[in-house]
Amino acid sequence: MEALKYTAYDVPIAGIQPFTTIDFPGKIAAVFFTQGCPWHCRYCHNADLRLTGHVNDVSSVSRDSIESFLSSRSGFLEGIVVSGGEPTIHTSLPYLLSSIKEYGYDTALHTNGNNPEMLGSILRQGLVDYVAMDVKAPPAVYDRITRFTNTGISATRSISKILSSQVDYEFRTTYHPSLLTEAELMDTVHAVYNAGARKYYIQRFTKKGVRDEELMLGGDYVEIPDAVVQEARKLFSVFDVR
Ligand code: SF4
Repeated sequence: MEALKYTAYDVPIAGIQPFTTIDFPGKIAAVFFTQGCPWHCRYCHNADLRLTGHVNDVSSVSRDSIESFLSSRSGFLEGIVVSGGEPTIHTSLPYLLSSIKEYGYDTALHTNGNNPEMLGSILRQGLVDYVAMDVKAPPAVYDRITRFTNTGISATRSISKILSSQVDYEFRTTYHPSLLTEAELMDTVHAVYNAGARKYYIQRFTKKGVRDEELMLGGDYVEIPDAVVQEARKLFSVFDVR
């Protein structure tokens, strides 16, 4: 039997954000949103992107549109960010990243770290120039946030893969007081630092796109506990709340 042949266009792309200056540090970029994520975080901003299915059923951007976008923005955009959903669930992600590079773009990957094997392979092959990884919680309480099994193990391994590569990175944690206690947020800060990371951000929960009514608080933003902010400022070379 002939082996399956994957192509760049087996990655379902649910949408393209044509311009961003904040998702790929130092680059004028666009964002490709891949469809599908196995995790089920209550604060997910992209609930529609979680659904999985056959590429032809869930991809709303055609192969022709992707190719036309990549060729028409050449010389204007410097980079393409591949985000999700969760890009690393797609076997053909390396082909997509490689194809984007063939058009002359630098590439960034946004990941939840659920597939350390694929992430390691992508890093080794030089298919990404920047990785931003969500760190949901300290390892012991990870599954409570993701509502999936053994996610802390995968995430810990992915952090190691990123830090043992030469690729530029950031780690970031979204904080909501109903989901993480202050002590657990502090433990997350220490876990990321102790793994060897020096670039880290804490993100305020915002309501936009979130479907879980119970997480909707009075204001639009959640304040980050000051003791955690002070500790993170002490530890990391690059840190901010955003
Ligand atoms: S990992 Fe990201 S995309 Fe997946 S459910 Fe959680 S917040 Fe949503």
